[in-house]
Amino acid sequence: MRIPRLALLAGALAGVLFAGTAHAATTSAAPSYKPVLAKNPLYKTGKLGVTECEEPEVRNGTVEEAEQYFQAVMDCLSKAWSPVVKKAGYRFSAPKLTVITKVGTKIPSCGRFPDGAQAVYCPTTRSISFLLSADVVEEPTDLLLMQGLAHEYGHHVQQLTGIIKATDVIMLKDTESRAYEALRRSELQAQCLSAAFVGRVWDSLRRPDTDWSILLKGHHNMVAALGARSGSEETHGSHPSNRYWLERGFKAQSASACNTFAAPKNRVH
Ligand SMILES: [Zn+2]
Repeated sequence: MRIPRLALLAGALAGVLFAGTAHAATTSAAPSYKPVLAKNPLYKTGKLGVTECEEPEVRNGTVEEAEQYFQAVMDCLSKAWSPVVKKAGYRFSAPKLTVITKVGTKIPSCGRFPDGAQAVYCPTTRSISFLLSADVVEEPTDLLLMQGLAHEYGHHVQQLTGIIKATDVIMLKDTESRAYEALRRSELQAQCLSAAFVGRVWDSLRRPDTDWSILLKGHHNMVAALGARSGSEETHGSHPSNRYWLERGFKAQSASACNTFAAPKNRVH
């Protein structure tokens, strides 16, 4: 779950940094980021637009059915985020969802779908590619998949509000450690935004609370699996950091909880 362009940059840096650099878990303040990152109007928009999401029933275990399921989740994500983006003063457009069934499938403008990822957001075409592997088709309603889709949608919200563009500048121009830090702040923000959505519609999903607690516990494995090629925690943050931002977003049901660019360093390691 990542932005391919950033991931590629991070991948290029990983050879240098991955071997020996440990994060100092300091409580020192965030670097002074541009207002579009640290004071984005997105952080003052209040709770998300909808409280209800209807999940289509899944019966047959076909690719088509799984695709319909994720499209329904996408529609709900758009309903939830469109008023928020507009309130923040930006223009809203819904991202496109493309399902693929094979790793390595070409993603227009964004290379090939990477091994180990579940989904990818391509900022240039504003589209989410989602991998429908056999196990996903078998169990599309796993909360982890909904949250994963909501994470990529979080990147779309970052794209619409200028956050990706500003992070890209840091990735290209700043030092390696600052580039990684900005990338982690961006990934953890997408986590927080995903949880704001899940938290907002939670009651309507009628899922057991254990679904959420299992997701919080299991997250580490997923990050490790997804980030394997690009340095995992280096790019997506530690398990405690992921948990912190997921819980924050879930509770607040709002992007106001997701200003990772103003958080002290020890929250984004
Ligand atoms: Zn991501």
